[in-house]
Amino acid sequence: MRKILHVDMDAFYASVEQRDDPTLRGRPVAVGGDPEGRGVVAAASYEARRYGVRSAMAAAHALKLCPDLIFVRGSFTKYRAVSQQMHAIFADYTDQIEAVALDEAYLDVSENRAGLPFASQVAVEIRRRIRDELDLTASAGVAPVKFAAKIASDHRKPDGLTVIPPERLLAFLHPLPVRKLPGVGPSTETRIRGLGIHTIGDVARRDLRELERRLGSRGAWLWRMANGEDPRRVVGSRVRKSRGSERTFDTDVTDAQRLLDFLAEQTRGLCEGLQRSEEKARTVTLKIRYADFTTITRASTLPQPTDSAEDVLPEVQRLLAKTDAGTTPVRLAGITFSNFAGEGEGPVEQLDLPFRPVWSIAS
Ligand SMILES: [Mg+2]
Repeated sequence: MRKILHVDMDAFYASVEQRDDPTLRGRPVAVGGDPEGRGVVAAASYEARRYGVRSAMAAAHALKLCPDLIFVRGSFTKYRAVSQQMHAIFADYTDQIEAVALDEAYLDVSENRAGLPFASQVAVEIRRRIRDELDLTASAGVAPVKFAAKIASDHRKPDGLTVIPPERLLAFLHPLPVRKLPGVGPSTETRIRGLGIHTIGDVARRDLRELERRLGSRGAWLWRMANGEDPRRVVGSRVRKSRGSERTFDTDVTDAQRLLDFLAEQTRGLCEGLQRSEEKARTVTLKIRYADFTTITRASTLPQPTDSAEDVLPEVQRLLAKTDAGTTPVRLAGITFSNFAGEGEGPVEQLDLPFRPVWSIAS
């Protein structure tokens, strides 16, 4: 059983603007669109939401709902920087972090670095640190499966924490309206309601085959979630499976030196990318497509992960020598790095965190 934490900042862009400009605090703020033009609200403060202002709403309409609405242009550079600060906090507890948006992430805290005995304590700590260090609030949910963690983080928003221990999962889910399940938008909800299904519990009690017949594969997925199942793992978004580049030439290339020069340039560019993102790779793969579209790959694994073109270039040359390049015209060539340092290594600590036996905590 996993312990999954979903953290979602409250009215993120608007809250950052209110934090940084005290004159905006306590007032209805919209980040985004110019109300004179065809702008759209990217985010609304809770004061603005009271008037019905929502993100994705036309700015002109938002202004009609709330004539005192203050529009702020917003800065994605700033929001990205704050997001990185959040992720630095998360990384103190786990390296299994899946960013969903700048202000939203799943964390698998089944084993955590801080040695906290309960998953809910990790959530409490992270929320406290976001408040103390970033002067912002986040809502969080803890659950044994992803979709429930997300529903939980929304449950007491803003500035709330909801913890769903595994034994309470179904009791928590079943009274909720079916639209709380991911993928159930207004049109699906109408269809499902037409079947007499109103709550998640109604879905769970239906026959799986019947739901499949009426709703297709989505019916089966909804039924599994309603019964507490969600096989999706938290996928570390920083772990990259491969990084490469390739090019189709304007005219086929037979000159081996020209190919080598091209591949050396690609390799240097990729290595610069690795250095920027502080990644090191062990495996380099050469891809060659001949003029007749036959495609081959040749790979080599280095003794140590590297981000240095000097380490990789001799391998690229060796790999190229194993192909028919130089005698057979080449249409496309490319280099890919994979097998990054840190991939496939187990977590540092193997603590099995029990859920704290609480139903939910409001702050
Ligand atoms: Mg948010």
